[in-house]
Amino acid sequence: MITNLPTSTDYYTSGKELFNFAWETTASLLVEIDESYCGDDEQLKSEISEAYWAAAKRTLTTALTVMQQGVELIIKGRIAEVSPYLLISDAPSQWPSPYSGPIDFERFRTIDAQDLIRVHDTFSETKFGAKFVEKFHDLRVQRNTVLHSAAKSVSVTVAEVIDSVLYMHKSLFPDESWFKVRREFLRNAPSAQLGSDEFVTNTTCWEASFALKLLGRSQVESYLRVDKKQHLYLCPECLSDANMDGGFEHKLAALQPKGPQTTSLYCPVCDKSHSVTRKDCVDPECLGNVVTSDGNQCLTCAAWQPYDEE
Ligand SMILES: [Zn+2]
Ligand SMILES: [Zn+2]
Repeated sequence: MITNLPTSTDYYTSGKELFNFAWETTASLLVEIDESYCGDDEQLKSEISEAYWAAAKRTLTTALTVMQQGVELIIKGRIAEVSPYLLISDAPSQWPSPYSGPIDFERFRTIDAQDLIRVHDTFSETKFGAKFVEKFHDLRVQRNTVLHSAAKSVSVTVAEVIDSVLYMHKSLFPDESWFKVRREFLRNAPSAQLGSDEFVTNTTCWEASFALKLLGRSQVESYLRVDKKQHLYLCPECLSDANMDGGFEHKLAALQPKGPQTTSLYCPVCDKSHSVTRKDCVDPECLGNVVTSDGNQCLTCAAWQPYDEE
C-alpha cells in the first residue's frame, strides 16, 4: 500500500506558486527601476537602466528557471489526473520493499523532466500542442545552460520572462486569467498581513498595464483577452477596490463587443465583464462616454458625475 499519494491539485498549487515567485521576482525589478527614475534626465535614465539590467541578469535567469520548474510540476499534475502511479519511474526491482509497512509515495523516484511530455501525451486524452512542446524544450535547454555554465552566455530579458509565464499559464490553464490568480497571491502574501493588502489591486493593475505596454497585440489578445489597439477604460470594480492615495489610472478594460451601444466592459484583472452605462462625461475635455452602471463615475477620467434627475 502507498500513502501520501499526490493529487493533481497539489501539483497545480505548487506549480502556480513557482509561477508567482518568478513573476514577483521580475516585477520587483521593474518597480525598483521605476522608482529610481528621478527627474527627466534621459541620459542619466539610460545609464542607470543599462547598469541596472546588467546586474539584474542573474535574477532574470533564475526567474525563468523557477518558472520552468513550475511548468514541470503542473505537467506532473496533468499526469496525476490520469493516475499518480504513472509518475513512478524505475523498474519494480528498484522500488522500496513492500514488506515493511505502507510506502510513502515520496520514496519512489519519479520520472525525469525530459520524459514528462511523452508520458502525458501517451496517457492523456488530449496531447500538448506543438508550440507548447517546442517552448517547453527551449526553456529546458535554457535552464540547463543556466545551471551548467553559470549563465555567462545566457541573456534573458524582462519581456521573455513575462511572456513565458503568461504563455505557460495560458497554455496550462486556458480558462484562467493570470492577473486574477496573481491578485489572489498578493492577497495571501505575508506582506498583506502587514497592511499591503490595501494595494493589491493597484499592484496587479500596474503589472497588467506594464505587460500590456511591453507585449505585442496578439500576445495581449491571447493573455489578457483585450485588444490593445481598442480604446481601454478603467474597470469599475478595480477602481472602487484600489487605494486612491496616489491616483489610479490603469486602463485595462475593453468594451466587448466593440461598439457605441455596448454596455459590457471586460476586465482582465477581475476576469469578468462589468455592466456600464453609456453617457457623456461631464468634463468637456474628457470626451469619454462610458460611466459606471449607476452613472456616478466616468471610466475614462474617473471624474464624479453629477446626480442625474431622471
Ligand atoms: Zn477589474
Ligand atoms: Zn471623463
